[in-house]
Amino acid sequence: MEIIDTHTHIGQFGQWNCSCETLMTCMRKFGVSQGIVSTISGNEYDYELNLVNSDKGQIRINHDMLQEIKKYKGRLKALFWIRPHSEVADRQLENYLEVNREWFVGLKVHPRCSNLKFSLENYHTYLELCKKLALPFCIHTQNDGFSNIEYVYNVAKQYSDINFIAIHMEMGTNHQCAMQYIKECSNLYGDTTMVKIDDVIKAIRCCGSKKILFGSDAVVFGEDSYRRYDDFEEKLINTFSGTEIEDLFYNNAKRFFKYIGGSYE
Ligand SMILES: [Zn+2]
Repeated sequence: MEIIDTHTHIGQFGQWNCSCETLMTCMRKFGVSQGIVSTISGNEYDYELNLVNSDKGQIRINHDMLQEIKKYKGRLKALFWIRPHSEVADRQLENYLEVNREWFVGLKVHPRCSNLKFSLENYHTYLELCKKLALPFCIHTQNDGFSNIEYVYNVAKQYSDINFIAIHMEMGTNHQCAMQYIKECSNLYGDTTMVKIDDVIKAIRCCGSKKILFGSDAVVFGEDSYRRYDDFEEKLINTFSGTEIEDLFYNNAKRFFKYIGGSYE
């Protein structure tokens, strides 16, 4: 089975140090043919809300990651990790993303680690840029007062021509609320990152197989990052049709992100 992992990381943040080599080793071991990666070095604040990585701008941080992933001949594509607390989406960012269109397939934000609620106006320039360049927006969701699913839902309703992924389908909850929003809102999608298999099954049943994408957070948990997904395929095969499983593991990713899928070595 072809697998595209739509949510992986490299970079350095706090206790986490994720190398591109380890990510590629894990992907190979688990049979992931292509990954969409973002750099955790893009976080603006640590969990205690102290400013971090303030010496580099968002383009520089993402460009450093790009140099790493280019070595792997298209097996990795990227999300541009934005820093909306200290920066905006300006002309320079627009040009940068246009020039590197082949690599950056969307934007990514962790609202808590930007110390900025997703409901705030500061995201406006980034949302306008997504609209202009037809890029999807991937948001870490969690009921933490920064990344709540209702903030993402409200923005998705307001920007109906941008596609959004609620990463984790609101971590720290039973995902019921996220599932209802994803079901109701045609441009809001969910992913499986850190979501238990029983809840993934519920999400596919509730929202339909076209709305949920496979993501893992590899290699935040090191060499064993994919171990928690070992029984995923087997349990899904017992529950859903071949087409529905293909949607989850790769067809949705191909539909959702441009410049992904196809042939690579
Ligand atoms: Zn993540």
